[in-house]
Amino acid sequence: MRDVHREIGHWLEALGAVVRIDAAGNLRATYAANGTSAARLLIGSHLDTVPDAGSFDGILGVVLAVAILQALEGRRLAYAIEIVGFSDEEGVRFGVPFIGSRALVDRLDDDLLNRQDARGISVRKAIQDFGLDPHKMGDAALAGDACAYLEYHLEQGPVLESLGLPLAVVEAIAGQTRSQFAFLGRANHAGTTPMHLRFDAVAAAAEWITTVERIAQQTPGLVATVGSVETQPGATNVIAGEARVSLDVRHHDNAVRLQAAEQISLEAAQIANRRGLKLSQTPGLNQPSVAMDPALSDQLEESICKVGCKPHRMVSGAGHDAMILAEKIPSAMIFLRTPGGTSHHPAESVAVEDVAKAIECGLHFLDQMASSPNFLSRTCRA
Ligand SMILES: [Zn+2]
Repeated sequence: MRDVHREIGHWLEALGAVVRIDAAGNLRATYAANGTSAARLLIGSHLDTVPDAGSFDGILGVVLAVAILQALEGRRLAYAIEIVGFSDEEGVRFGVPFIGSRALVDRLDDDLLNRQDARGISVRKAIQDFGLDPHKMGDAALAGDACAYLEYHLEQGPVLESLGLPLAVVEAIAGQTRSQFAFLGRANHAGTTPMHLRFDAVAAAAEWITTVERIAQQTPGLVATVGSVETQPGATNVIAGEARVSLDVRHHDNAVRLQAAEQISLEAAQIANRRGLKLSQTPGLNQPSVAMDPALSDQLEESICKVGCKPHRMVSGAGHDAMILAEKIPSAMIFLRTPGGTSHHPAESVAVEDVAKAIECGLHFLDQMASSPNFLSRTCRA
């Protein structure tokens, strides 16, 4: 992270930006306005990544922001631009995502700072070890001049490629419901127990899993996943007495998501009941969806049209820093087509032509913001 700060920091300084690292380890670079306007537009994404990652998730959005600044060729706008490279979005080390962006919305609290990694090192200690002062976290929070946030990110999925489109406006980031289910039957001998005298936990789980898939297929926009199945005792010649399964349900409309999660849970109870099994359910994450700012999204759509692309709007199934920033300031996102839909994998890539379109689109967006009479006054925080 130190190396990437140094490298990108040098690029930004060469473009006339003033660079600092805030107390949460975020790279912050301010490119001043041409006048005395106090307004600023934030453009950014995250610098961290996952183990065995590709080269574009997150950092593409930061480097694109640098490239847009470079494309201004020294021109200053009616508002300041702040480029942000978030320190920890993925949550790999501490098991909590968005540590960097939470600092900007003043939500990097003691609970989070005390959270420990696998070696017992807290977030607070890690920040100190990096040479930063957690007591200065307040300086990382957004000031009143922060007007809006724009994030470029890989789609990390196959939709844009399937549509033959390079860019899309992200309308909303889907909400998520996660929970654990356990089907509890009776373990017994696989050879001596007739089929009608079994309480097979795996067969019950299997029936339910296909039901989950069917419900998602029949509900527009819903995605539901059973990604983990653990069986006990887990032997070839023993009927499973227990099957623990995970559930992940996502939709941009909270009501639809909650209703689907409810129906899925009801189906599990009915299947367990019909088969003479017990069911236990442990709720996990329940995260509401986050809408991106409609006015900014319209502006993005216009800028996509200006570079000769068909505007497309979509929902992000993955979480992004923009959903955290949206708590405090109007936020918008633009997705780039992801070849093969491959991400969080070394084969992750992006097309050079798509990046060129994204830069061009960004320049239009900046000019639109500068000439939008209401923009600065409308979107700045009080
Ligand atoms: Zn990312």
